Amino acid sequence: MIIVMRHGASEENIEKVVSFVKSKGRDAHLSKGESHTIIGAVGESPVDPRDFELLDGVKEVIKISSSYKLVSHLFKEEDTIIEVNGEKFGGDYAGMIAGPCTIENEDQIEECAEKMAQFGVKIMRGGAFKPRTSPYAFQGLGEEGLKMIRKAADRNHLAVTSEVMEISQIPMFLDYVDILQVGARNMQNFNLLKELSKIDKPVVLKRGLSATINEWLMAAEYILSGGNREVILCERGIRTFEVATRNTLDLCAIPVVKKLSHLPIIVDPSHGTGLRDKVAPMSMASIAAGADGLMIEVHNKPECALCDGAQSLYPEQFAELYKKLKVLAPVVDKKM
Ligand code: PEP
Ligand code: MN
Repeated sequence: MIIVMRHGASEENIEKVVSFVKSKGRDAHLSKGESHTIIGAVGESPVDPRDFELLDGVKEVIKISSSYKLVSHLFKEEDTIIEVNGEKFGGDYAGMIAGPCTIENEDQIEECAEKMAQFGVKIMRGGAFKPRTSPYAFQGLGEEGLKMIRKAADRNHLAVTSEVMEISQIPMFLDYVDILQVGARNMQNFNLLKELSKIDKPVVLKRGLSATINEWLMAAEYILSGGNREVILCERGIRTFEVATRNTLDLCAIPVVKKLSHLPIIVDPSHGTGLRDKVAPMSMASIAAGADGLMIEVHNKPECALCDGAQSLYPEQFAELYKKLKVLAPVVDKKM
């Protein structure tokens, strides 16, 4: 249930509503917008909305049948804008995250970092713990990899995002990265999501391989409900009957999510297509459709990459694409 306060409702009125919500066994989450304060009464205990409508300062009470509340646009009118290292995602902004699939060695990650910085990228990606389909495939360098990417990023004034796979890794990740990434395979690892709800760094939450938009938003709700409001949703393609591409990039998810939620949604066209030559058109299409940013795999030598080389752009290809994206973004009222 969501309680919308009247324009200019007093602090005292707001506090009374909050205590009333709590007295009914629900959590009260406050969202102060430019025109209205909104209070999310989150929980399952039975309440009668009319009891809330009668309180001083209350404009209206909205019963929400969808199970996500805090991620809903009903709870927060303004789009959430997440800023890391000067790069913004959400609202009028489309941000960029780029870098290799995986950290392979010092030279590789340093070269990638230099290129990214040279092209104006502010946030670099790179996996140290890789969720591979085969146990025999390269699993990542682990903590050594995180050290390498942090060093390369610092030298080039970049922020870092990397995928965290399990709860026990969180403290280590907090030491090395600026944004924690939850991969598609862990989107419904609810225990992991609950722990990530307690940290104060942003989380990129990738859409599960076969997750509906509702399930994805519910996963985000886990993170918000524990207190972490900084979630960037990432559409990375879903599994369909089509096999011409690695996944089917669901660009419709962009306008759908933007209507339902205030959270920023970015697109990963690299995993979404699995093929380098499809990355530029799908990046352009994502921004044209209103995406709040992109996550693109770029490798200094894609043909030698230990993971996902075929979908990784050459640095020069990326530079050319980034230039075009910056021309396109203002057409859809976005700054990139
Ligand atoms: C990745 O970003 O390298 C990755 C493994 O992505 P996903 O979780 O979307 O498959
Ligand atoms: Mn990858």
